Amino acid sequence: IPFDQREGYIWFDGQLVPWADAKLHVLSHGLHYASCVFEGERAYGGQIFKSTEHSERFRRSAELLDFAIPYSVEELDAAKALTVAKNGFRNCYVRPVAWRGSEMMAVAAQNSTIHVAIAVWDWPSMFDVEQKMKGIRLDIAEYRRPDPKTAPSHSKAAGLYMICTISKHKAEKKGYADALMLDWQGRVAECTGANVFFAKGGALHTPIADCFLDGITRRTVIDLAKRRGIEVIERRIMPEELASFDECFICGTGAEVTPVSEIGPHRFTPAAVSRAMLEDYTAEVQPKAKAA
Ligand code: PMP
Repeated sequence: IPFDQREGYIWFDGQLVPWADAKLHVLSHGLHYASCVFEGERAYGGQIFKSTEHSERFRRSAELLDFAIPYSVEELDAAKALTVAKNGFRNCYVRPVAWRGSEMMAVAAQNSTIHVAIAVWDWPSMFDVEQKMKGIRLDIAEYRRPDPKTAPSHSKAAGLYMICTISKHKAEKKGYADALMLDWQGRVAECTGANVFFAKGGALHTPIADCFLDGITRRTVIDLAKRRGIEVIERRIMPEELASFDECFICGTGAEVTPVSEIGPHRFTPAAVSRAMLEDYTAEVQPKAKAA
């Protein structure tokens, strides 16, 4: 079902409205000039995993684009929980989005209204561990993540996804599931919607998140690995090194932990480290019983 024709409720500028009524005008600054930021979250068992961290990042993403989201972190957390509950979901994907409205239609849009919407939908996670352990195949993207001096790399800004969509489409046309993107200096960066980890000698290696999104899942995986006593090395990783790794997986709210079997000419065999992280993450996202 197309996304504009579904049933349910969308939280729109402070109120729950019927799904079909959550519309914006074609002359919206967010559409023309990409003054738009969003989040991607998941609810498990009726509870949004790390909701507050996502709300904080949402507000920070907007600040990096020079606008302020007119709701506090607490208000956003409450609105997201309300939207999940109103739509009757226990497990779902949660999409907050904020954009500049229609008052001004030029590059400058200082006085435009900031709109916020929250939609939720069913996006089943691949909980079948054995299926996931086969691994996905990645292309290597032509476009690179921009220099942080060229774009606000740490904002989850809609505009930064243009090259992700192009890269993912190219990869899919070649039969790959996704694309690995390099950074502006040609080092391994991330996928089009997930961060990347490699394993060799029992340790995890992951690129330093200085010019791409430092995913909430990435930070969770680093924590989980450390709790297991797995060493995590954040460092520069060159594409020439890919051949030296035994395992690879990607991680993100949507992807959760997904092992990788191929990146371009390189082959990986998802094994113990990927399995451990996949199992630990699956356990970690389950709702925690509230302390008495
Ligand atoms: N990088 C990009 C480009 C993404 O879109 C995402 C998904 N939000 C991630 C990394 C992973 O971020 P998170 O773990 O916070 O979902």
